[in-house]
Amino acid sequence: MPPPDTPVVPSPTPTPALRLDAGRLPHLLAVLTADGRELIGPVVSGGAIVYGPITGADDLPKGLVDDQAPGRYRLVAGESGTYFDHVATANSWKTFLFPPEQKICDIAHADGALTVTAPPVDAPARAFIGVRACDLRAMGILGKVFDNGDFADPAYAARRRNALIVAVNCGRAGGTCFCTSMGTGPKADGGYDLALTEVPAGGDGAPAYFTLVAGSDAGRRILDRLDLNRATAAEVETAAARVAACADSMGREMIADAAEMLGDNLDSPHWQTVAERCLNCANCTMACPTCFCSTVEDVTDLTGDNAERWRKWDSCFTLDHSYMHGGSLRRSGAARYRQWITHKLAHWHDQFGTSGCTGCGRCITWCPVGIDITEEARAVRDRAAGT
Ligand code: SF4
Ligand code: SF4
Repeated sequence: MPPPDTPVVPSPTPTPALRLDAGRLPHLLAVLTADGRELIGPVVSGGAIVYGPITGADDLPKGLVDDQAPGRYRLVAGESGTYFDHVATANSWKTFLFPPEQKICDIAHADGALTVTAPPVDAPARAFIGVRACDLRAMGILGKVFDNGDFADPAYAARRRNALIVAVNCGRAGGTCFCTSMGTGPKADGGYDLALTEVPAGGDGAPAYFTLVAGSDAGRRILDRLDLNRATAAEVETAAARVAACADSMGREMIADAAEMLGDNLDSPHWQTVAERCLNCANCTMACPTCFCSTVEDVTDLTGDNAERWRKWDSCFTLDHSYMHGGSLRRSGAARYRQWITHKLAHWHDQFGTSGCTGCGRCITWCPVGIDITEEARAVRDRAAGT
């Protein structure tokens, strides 16, 4: 049995909810900019919503929602004209906290001596706009890997500390979301500085608004500069009902006993069944907000006197990932898929005291052949049970 999960994010006592008219969202973003922060938020790029630099509310994908299904992603017009009714973005906050490529050091050879120089840490003050509950949990999980005392990655730790988190509680469930069954969403329960819940305009002409709470002193300082009124009990109730409806409408779930069941079925014939569809493309691991494997590459100039060492994202779906002297340990696609899903759902508990999966659904959407982690876990269980 895995040990009980340990908390991965602090649970602050939020301030009472304030009301922010939807038309004043630009003011909140302006205050964050005036605070000296680069804004990173959802933007449309390449036909998808991704997290990237924004300059204000006009850059947000207002009125758009994402139609997500296994191996499928389309942007479509939403019905409610909201800023944040899209769900998991194509990339995740991992891109900004643990960049796909990062120089570790420069190495120079001169006069018979080697000089190794680490580049300065690049950790600008940022505000992350629109962080979902599942991705907040993912940040907490990444923190256990990279911001963990004696073995911390100083660049990761500095980037995380310099990021102010503006969470958004989800008002709509996407087609591949399953955070409710993972206990990670759709309401942010900690780890944020500010948390918004968006309520669209009512059919009776009631204007759109956000409820807004602070979960940290930094968030409270931002609220103090906004001059907002308390939300009424009815406004808070309406916002909460929207998030509850999102949870109720989530159409996908992870089986309850995944960790123990997978550990008992390492020899399941189902691994070969999955391997017959899996392309070993590694998309799932690139899209996943918690996958953190990396490799190291050295590049030299033509003189051989100067070299750079780079850290780059890697994936357990590549042959090289398990290469040791003499060859790769996981030579078959079956072995590689088993490694990924058992690490995510079972062995992560042993290592980090939590699941490695937050139920964001990205690996399902961005798998070119639509392999679904919830369906595969269920299939292994059902096959073992002979059903
Ligand atoms: S395994 Fe899939 S659903 Fe789970 S956190 Fe990673 S991308 Fe999201
Ligand atoms: S499960 Fe899907 S996304 Fe992941 S490696 Fe296989 S084909 Fe690619």
